[in-house]
Amino acid sequence: RVKHDGRGRACFFDAEMDEAARNRRQIESDLRHAIIRNQLHVSYQPILNAQSVEISGYEALMRWHRPGHGLTEPDIFIPVAEESGSIVQLGEWILQQACREAARWPQPLTIAVNVSPVQFMLPNLCERVEAVLDETGLAPDRLELEITEAALIRDRDRVMATLQRLRKLGVHIVMDDFGTGYSSLSNLRSFPFDKIKVDRSFTGVLEHDAAARSIVRAIIGLGHSLGMPVVTEGVETEMQRRIVVEEGCAQVQGLLLGKPDIEPSMKPAVRKNVPAAPAGTGIPPRRR
Ligand code: C2E
Ligand code: MG
Ligand code: MG
Ligand code: MG
Repeated sequence: RVKHDGRGRACFFDAEMDEAARNRRQIESDLRHAIIRNQLHVSYQPILNAQSVEISGYEALMRWHRPGHGLTEPDIFIPVAEESGSIVQLGEWILQQACREAARWPQPLTIAVNVSPVQFMLPNLCERVEAVLDETGLAPDRLELEITEAALIRDRDRVMATLQRLRKLGVHIVMDDFGTGYSSLSNLRSFPFDKIKVDRSFTGVLEHDAAARSIVRAIIGLGHSLGMPVVTEGVETEMQRRIVVEEGCAQVQGLLLGKPDIEPSMKPAVRKNVPAAPAGTGIPPRRR
């Protein structure tokens, strides 16, 4: 009896894995036509000055209207695209769209575009970025490329060369999702980033989790001493915004301040000049 159950379970898992593999293959093949069939869109989420709550730019986030499946999350299709290689095409597409869009915005507004580790390893990445800037007329210093630490783990000399070439173009490089994954502090020391983005997994628990707050404080402190401003993503409450302002965070991004939108609203979602954490707001005291 036990033996039968054991075998039954094994079969069940096999079937589940088959199903998952089939899904992946289907996503992979559907994705191949996504650009040409006009199923991809760019959503723009505002990034604001943490203190004044003025919009300083937007992050471009990919959306896929997959027929029969509705709006498909990047977390579902980006990993598949990275594995199959179609991320190269998708990444180039969003870079082009986002830069073209941003070129029409008022001058100082920046545009942040995520660059997959797969794209980052392309030998012609810098040429492609330069070409898109030329085509769209966007000033290089208005483009921010967001990379994660996963892009840094291979050949360090090559990574360094790529980062330096990109910065020479005048574009800014942001370390995205910092605090998760490999989070090697030496990455911050070794590589020339312009900004650090604190992962949203810390932000969500800031109010209640002293350890998360300590980590955010440490990242901001580290950023400051290395000359890199810090942006906190995933800010959903005014309390979270106040905490990160108090910790010295330069910019904020999150549902409190504006959701990702096909039509970037050029106005902040919250009133301007919200005072920074006055005394007696119930914010946990800062440990020293
Ligand atoms: P990310 O680059 O860290 O982008 C921020 C994510 O946080 C976005 O998820 C955004 O919608 C979400 N977010 C914004 N505000 C809040 C908030 O207040 N609370 C919470 N919980 N989440 C918030 P999204 O759009 O689903 O994208 C997920 C990830 O997929 C991105 O994380 C990025 O790693 C990847 N991705 C998205 N678009 C692209 C792209 O064009 N190229 C590449 N390579 N990756 C992309
Ligand atoms: Mg990002
Ligand atoms: Mg992020
Ligand atoms: Mg991410």
